[in-house]
Amino acid sequence: MNQTAANPFAWADAALKGEVLSKDDARRLLADESIDVAELAAAAGKVRRHYFGKKVKVHQINNVQNGLCPEDCGYCGQAKSSDAPVNKYPMKSEDEIIEDAKKAKEQGVFRYCMVSSGRGLNDKKADDWSRILGRLRDEVGIRTCLSVGLVSYEQACKLKEAGLDRLNHNLNTSEQHTPNIVSSHTYQDRVDTIQNAQKAGLDNCSGMICGMGESDDDILEVAYRLRDMKVPSIPINFLIPIEGNRLYDFGQLSPERCVRILCLFRFINPSAEVRVGGGREGHLRTLQTLALWPANSLFVEGYLVTRGDAKSKVYRMIEDAGFELDGAPAPVDASPADKFQIDEDPNILHPKAGKREAWTPKAPEPTAMSGSCGSTGGGCGSCH
Ligand code: SF4
Repeated sequence: MNQTAANPFAWADAALKGEVLSKDDARRLLADESIDVAELAAAAGKVRRHYFGKKVKVHQINNVQNGLCPEDCGYCGQAKSSDAPVNKYPMKSEDEIIEDAKKAKEQGVFRYCMVSSGRGLNDKKADDWSRILGRLRDEVGIRTCLSVGLVSYEQACKLKEAGLDRLNHNLNTSEQHTPNIVSSHTYQDRVDTIQNAQKAGLDNCSGMICGMGESDDDILEVAYRLRDMKVPSIPINFLIPIEGNRLYDFGQLSPERCVRILCLFRFINPSAEVRVGGGREGHLRTLQTLALWPANSLFVEGYLVTRGDAKSKVYRMIEDAGFELDGAPAPVDASPADKFQIDEDPNILHPKAGKREAWTPKAPEPTAMSGSCGSTGGGCGSCH
């Protein structure tokens, strides 16, 4: 039997009317190669524009404690089960966390996300965080998000009272796939933490890591579950292959698949903040810009144990794609020549900023031929 052609713009209109994308359509969205990914992104962009206009929220992570974690999450370089050469350090000082937040605010960051390794909070840690959050509210005045593992209802209330806006705790994957990812805590432990944050009145943030051997239906399950739980902020991470981790690379992710996944989350969770999380640079590659049609938010300057693109590069991508930074204005380019510094190797292209010296044409001299254009490599202007 012939299937009728999929119509992503009909999905967009239905999402805007509050209708839920059917599971059959969701499966097609991910797997049907006859659905053009640019058309899909444009349709998801219609939904995104309705709720967020052209704004992009930029988040920055401060990994305040690295490594030394007793849990065994297979994707994480900080897990006890990982041999990744992670730079382990105990919790940063309060003053360092405050200073980093001030810098992030000055540089246009919308939300400052603090992440600490470990299974979860105990009473002492909850008190320490309450003190830090109070200082961030009084001394910096930036929106905050905290990711500290499992959190009880009482601890969530304490953090809320101290000024926390949002608690992050990802579902990471579906219920049935979770035992393949971690054995030291359960899917239900994760759901409980999200619900504790909600009951305490905290805004909450919960998402997924794709590329960990999951099926399309696992992705669907997470997208529908987050909708059912009314989660307003959904980071979608793409597994970064870190040597030494138990879960390394399943070869499941292409730039196009990453865009499809982001579109899926946008259609199923139309009004949620959908954020491109870890792995953006390496998995989306040249389609990073297209991701801004379904997603309205991203991280800058790296993740927990890996580096990411610098703010200046990300801000330029946002501007070039016709979107706007939400919050403080992006810093202006130092010079037009900066736009042409395409990598670290100065021999490739290294234009000088500032005024050029006057150029006087010389009489042509015979030259050795090199390459099809006849340039000797000095930059004829047509080969780059
Ligand atoms: S994800 Fe969090 S809880 Fe799991 S191993 Fe890494 S730091 Fe520990």
